[in-house]
Amino acid sequence: MDKLAIVVPCYNEEEVLKIASEALRGVLDDLVKKGKIARDSFILFVNDGSKDRTWELIEEEHKAHPVQVCGVKLAGNVGHQFALTAGLITAKDMSDVTISIDADLQDDVNVIEEMIDKFHAGNDIVYGVRKERKTDTFFKRVTAQGFYKLMDAMGVKSIYNHADFRLMSKRAVEQFSKYQETNLYLRGMMPLIGYQTDMVYYDRLERVAGESKYPLKKMLALAFNGISSFSVKPISMVLGLGLFIVCLSVIAGIYALISYFTGNVEPGWTSLIISIWFLGGLQLLAIGLVGQYIGKIYIEVKHRPRYNIEKVLSSEDETK
Ligand code: UDP
Ligand code: MG
Repeated sequence: MDKLAIVVPCYNEEEVLKIASEALRGVLDDLVKKGKIARDSFILFVNDGSKDRTWELIEEEHKAHPVQVCGVKLAGNVGHQFALTAGLITAKDMSDVTISIDADLQDDVNVIEEMIDKFHAGNDIVYGVRKERKTDTFFKRVTAQGFYKLMDAMGVKSIYNHADFRLMSKRAVEQFSKYQETNLYLRGMMPLIGYQTDMVYYDRLERVAGESKYPLKKMLALAFNGISSFSVKPISMVLGLGLFIVCLSVIAGIYALISYFTGNVEPGWTSLIISIWFLGGLQLLAIGLVGQYIGKIYIEVKHRPRYNIEKVLSSEDETK
């Protein structure tokens, strides 16, 4: 029977912690009763340097439910993506399959069963995808949708309307842990892992209590991080712009020369206008070219795994 770990990053979540713990324990009990997961499956709360009583509450919950509730305390606030990574990597050594979910229960816990079913059907990653954003404010909806469109335009592969509610098998987390990069954008990294994946759909609910810990500033930072960690497209755009302006300078040069020969120009204007356009374009082109190399260096220093082998068929199998 597979042992499940539900990983929950928490930052100043004292208002929702007990509610989340109770709801998730209910899900665990139910799945154990149905024989879908092992009896010692558990919730792993990751305290991301909270300033309130979150950690005390996690300790209390652990005391009351020593098997079902476990905790990790990070030494300081590192942000959602890092807290989640810490939780997943800790959980992989203690379990066979992990599910990550936010503490505020905005993601529907009732689809966890479907995720487990899809895992048993042979999927290594199951993405939770929001059906629609009825409960979000207009502002959040528009900014979030703009975010996915921008990522798409920049060539970052990510799953539309999927936040970090997802199931990952042990081997998927193991492969993920080989990505040593520090600029984390989990949603963009998961599709790189490979394996068979599937999705479950759910309605995004209201936060049960407390306030969003993701103000616009953090959202913009996440978006910028996502683009700059996954795509060197902005550099290519500079190169393209440089090329375009150099071409334009040829046209501008022809125009200036024609004006010169037809005689209706101030002295000095022709040479000035040609050099401004040409040099401007040349400089952009050079910056873009240097940028191409920097982009390559950037990709190299990440030391990402180059492939992920799922199965090997060899003669040794026959002799066993
Ligand atoms: N979170 C975290 N560290 C942070 C900010 C947030 O671990 O620095 C956690 C938070 O406790 C919650 C999850 O990340 O479990 C998502 O945050 P939130 O619900 O505030 O974001 P929203 O749903 O509004 O985008
Ligand atoms: Mg939330």
